[in-house]
Amino acid sequence: MTIGVLALQGAFRAHREKLDALGASHCEVRVPGDFDRVDALIMPGGESTTMSMLLESSGLFEPIHERLKAGMPVFGTCAGLILLAREIQDGRDDQRSFAALDVAVQRNGYGRQVASFEDHLVVSGVEQRVHSVFIRAPRITSVGEDCDVLARDHRSDPVLVRQGTVMGCAFHPELSEDTAIHRLFLESVA
Ligand code: GLN
Repeated sequence: MTIGVLALQGAFRAHREKLDALGASHCEVRVPGDFDRVDALIMPGGESTTMSMLLESSGLFEPIHERLKAGMPVFGTCAGLILLAREIQDGRDDQRSFAALDVAVQRNGYGRQVASFEDHLVVSGVEQRVHSVFIRAPRITSVGEDCDVLARDHRSDPVLVRQGTVMGCAFHPELSEDTAIHRLFLESVA
């Protein structure tokens, strides 16, 4: 079982470190040939508009889309969540998403870079509170019936959701000490 980490842009190295810490086999995905070798995919935080463009120019958008429809497990964090969402609010007109999670997200919905914050979240299925870092995070503004909410922020807005084998969160679990969220994903992959 190899986890691919989409490495077009953004915080992909930190995800690889988490996977190392958990003893999972992983590789970077930059071109379709890399993607063919992976069983699941992590989409990191970064800038979703740039990632959307790079997904097109690298030829990765269509193969990823096909495998998502076929049930490949995927985990999107922050910008990665935006790429998975059914609806993007305050996005760029030419920005595409895979519509693999039945959520609407508002880009930068918690405010700009200066409004970045940290929290300790109660996460369903995890005993201890999970340290979480929010950086220009998307706000999840609606969640479809088939999508489970695994954690909420201090205002009770959803911040971690799962629909079948697709998981997404508004924060950066790769930037805290915690490995709990990556472990949750690996459990669902197994
Ligand atoms: N605001 C960014 C975007 O729209 C996401 C921020 C992040 O991934 N930290 O893509």
